[in-house]
Amino acid sequence: MEGERNGSSEAFMKIPEIKFKKLFINGEFVDSISGKTFETIDPRTGEVIAKIAEGEKEDVDLAVKAAREAFDYGPWPRLSGSARAKILMKLANLIDENAEELAALDTIDAGKLFSRGMDRDIPAAADLLRYYAGAADKIHGETLKMSGEFQAYTLLEPVGVVGHIIPWNFPTSLFFMKVSPALAAGCTMIVKPAEQTPLSALYHAHLAKQAGIPNGVLNVITGFGPTAGAAIASHMDVDKVSFTGSTEVGRLVMQAAATTNLKQISLELGGKSPLIIFDDADVDKAADLALLGILHNKGEVCVAGSRVLVQEGIYDELVKKLLEKAKTWVVGDPFDPSVRQGPQVDKTQFEKILSYIEHGKREGATLLTGGERYGEKGYYIKPTIFSNVMDDMLIARDEIFGPVMSLMKFKTVEEAIKRANDTRYGLAAGIVTNNLNIANTVSRSVKAGIIWINCYFAFDKDCPYGGYKMSGFGRDMGLHALHKYLHVKSVVTPIYNSPWL
Ligand code: ADP
Repeated sequence: MEGERNGSSEAFMKIPEIKFKKLFINGEFVDSISGKTFETIDPRTGEVIAKIAEGEKEDVDLAVKAAREAFDYGPWPRLSGSARAKILMKLANLIDENAEELAALDTIDAGKLFSRGMDRDIPAAADLLRYYAGAADKIHGETLKMSGEFQAYTLLEPVGVVGHIIPWNFPTSLFFMKVSPALAAGCTMIVKPAEQTPLSALYHAHLAKQAGIPNGVLNVITGFGPTAGAAIASHMDVDKVSFTGSTEVGRLVMQAAATTNLKQISLELGGKSPLIIFDDADVDKAADLALLGILHNKGEVCVAGSRVLVQEGIYDELVKKLLEKAKTWVVGDPFDPSVRQGPQVDKTQFEKILSYIEHGKREGATLLTGGERYGEKGYYIKPTIFSNVMDDMLIARDEIFGPVMSLMKFKTVEEAIKRANDTRYGLAAGIVTNNLNIANTVSRSVKAGIIWINCYFAFDKDCPYGGYKMSGFGRDMGLHALHKYLHVKSVVTPIYNSPWL
C-alpha cells in the first residue's frame, strides 16, 4: 500500500526518560499502599515502557482525604478568582515550556501523532487553562427581585471534591478539559487517567505543583477502572464525578453515585456519529472530510464520523475519491512527521477492531480497502472502508473506535435524518452541503450535542460539547463546563422588617 511507512522512531525523536511513575497525593509522589505496579505499553512495539504505581481503594481514600481537607480548610477555594487565575496561567506557561516532552509521552503511551501533539493537543491544553483562568474572577450570581417583601441574590460556590475519570484517547486534552474549569471554580480533585495512558497525567501533576497549586488540590491516582475508578465513583466524600469513557462504564458510575451519596455526575460517553454528504457537495472536499472524520487519531475519537451517509447521486464518485485518497494516507511510526496514522492504543483495542472488521465481512458489507493489520509489530491497522453497509449491521451500530468507515447510501433529506437518528448515541454529526435549507433542516433535526456543517472536529475552548441520548449529559468546554463545577446558592432577605421574622 502506497501510504504505508515503517520507520524507526529513534530516527525521528529521542524517547523521553519516564520521570514520574508514582501516585500523586497531597503534593507528593508516593508508592501505592499495596506496593503494586502495572506496566504501561508502547503500542508501536508492544513493549513495556515503564512500571507505574497501581492505586486502589486505599490510595483513593488517601487522595480523597487530602482533597477534602484542601477543600474544607485549605486556601484554594478561598483564594480570589484572580489569585487562582495567576497560578493557572503559570501552569499554562509550564505546559508550553514542556510541550515536547508531554507530546512525546502521549505518543509513546497512546500512539498519538507527535506532530499533532506539538501543533494542537499540548498548546490547546495550555490555552484551555488560560481560558478558564480568564473566567475565574468573573464567577458571580444574580440579584433577584422576589415577589413579596423579600430580595435575594445567588452565590456560585465550588461543588467541592471532584473525581475526574478519563479515557486514553486524548490523555492531555481530556485531563485539562476536566481539571481546568474545576480548578478555576475553586474545586479540589482526584484525577484517574486510563490505565493505558498514565504517563502525561503524572507529569501534569508535577507541573501543577511547580506552578503553585496547593497540596491536596490536584491528586492523580493511576490504576485500573474496576478498582481505583470504582472507588472514586462510590466514595462518600467525593461530591461530583466527571466521567469520559464508554457508555457501559458511564452506567456503572451512575449506579455507584445512585447507591452512595447521590453525588452529581456528568457523563461524556460513546458515539456512532453520522457524516451526511448531500448530492451538491464538492466531492473532493467531502472525501477529505470523510477520511479525516474516521481516520483522525486512528478512529479513537468519541465523535468520529463512523457512519458516512451519502446521497445516491454522488455515491459512486465519492467512493472512487475515497479509495484514491485512502491509498495516500500514511500509516506508520507516529513520530514520523509524514505519518498520518499511528498504532491503536493497545492489543485489546487492536483485536476488538479486527473482530468488528470480520463481523462486517460476515454480515455482507463490502470491504473496499484495508481490513487488516499493518506491519508485523505494534498495533497498526490499515485504513478500512466498507460499502453497502446496512443500518442493522453491527458495524453500523456499535462504536468501533478504530479506523473503520461504514458507507451507506440514501435518497432523500428525510431519509437521511431518520437514519442519522437511528442510533442510541447522540454525540456529534457532520453535514456536507452548500444548500442552506438542507443544512438548517438537518442541523435542527439530528439529535446530537455538536453539529459540524462543511467541517469536522472543529473544536474550540469556547464551544461546548457533550451528548444527547446514550452519549451522556453535561457539557465540556465553554462556560457551560465551568458551571458544572459550581453550586447555585440563593440568599434571601426581607426588604423591611417583615412579620416573618
Ligand atoms: P474505554 O472503553 O474507552 O477504554 P472505559 O469506559 O473502559 O473506556 O474507561 C474510561 C475510564 O473509566 C478509564 O479511566 C477506566 O479506567 C475507567 N473505568 C473503567 N471501569 C470503571 C469502573 N467500573 N468504575 C469507574 N471507572 C472505570
